Amino acid sequence: MKWSGRRESGNMDDRRGMGSSGKVIAGGGVIGVIILLINLFGGSDLQNLAPVLEQFNNGSEQTTERELTAEEKEQGKFMNALLVDNEDVWTKIFQENNLSYVEPQMVLFSDRVQTGCGTASASSGPFYCPADQKVYMDLRFFDELKSKFGAQGGDFAVAYVLAHEIGHHVQTLMGTSGKVRQMQEGMSQSQANKLSVALELQADFYAGVWTHYNQKMNQILEEGDIDEALSAANAVGDDAIQNRVQGEVVPDSFTHGTSEQRKYWFMKGYKTGDIRQGDTFNNAR
Ligand SMILES: [Zn+2]
Repeated sequence: MKWSGRRESGNMDDRRGMGSSGKVIAGGGVIGVIILLINLFGGSDLQNLAPVLEQFNNGSEQTTERELTAEEKEQGKFMNALLVDNEDVWTKIFQENNLSYVEPQMVLFSDRVQTGCGTASASSGPFYCPADQKVYMDLRFFDELKSKFGAQGGDFAVAYVLAHEIGHHVQTLMGTSGKVRQMQEGMSQSQANKLSVALELQADFYAGVWTHYNQKMNQILEEGDIDEALSAANAVGDDAIQNRVQGEVVPDSFTHGTSEQRKYWFMKGYKTGDIRQGDTFNNAR
């Protein structure tokens, strides 16, 4: 992705290096993966997980500060550029629809962080918290996306993940996620999961719409970028993850959609660039 020369976003809160005493969640292994799976791409609410996370964090809280490495500083510049491009694209789309866009904050962290949705850790994976309208990311997730989930990686895998999370912010501003939460109350788990899938696929669609607009506005795409996004979307399909972790697939338990669905809706957003064509609630695919 071409990203140099962007202005400084006022909405990036870089807390990396301000981690805890390196005491990551003991269950980083299998437990971490399960938590990561549950939360991948964080449409789900963290409140349910806080008690789970807390029991692994019985160590005393010692905050330490360290200098970021040169590589981390470069990653920080890239994340700032992505955030700026999301601010510019969604401000334009909202204006085109006579709406005004409220920019979210993005918090980069290491190890653990307090959020409006509970305590989060590296193994929570990237997520958006509607309670404080912030996106939380521990960038080591992208190493895991490659090592644990077999994605090809690359800078546009990161761009896709951030654009997906900001897709959840767009859904919050449009009232979609609030409506979904209301509808899920009193529903059976499998029905509630179906609505969660539609919400997640729409966030993938919005990530595609962002890519479409950003390409028009900033000519950002390089050879292979779209493949990097598709590889990441493919790696985090519920069927791909369940196959990888438990060797069997339980469709009723899906909360984020299959690999095929996630790629389809990302590409539909990218090809059309039209937010009106993102009705994943009535166009099950
Ligand atoms: Zn999501």
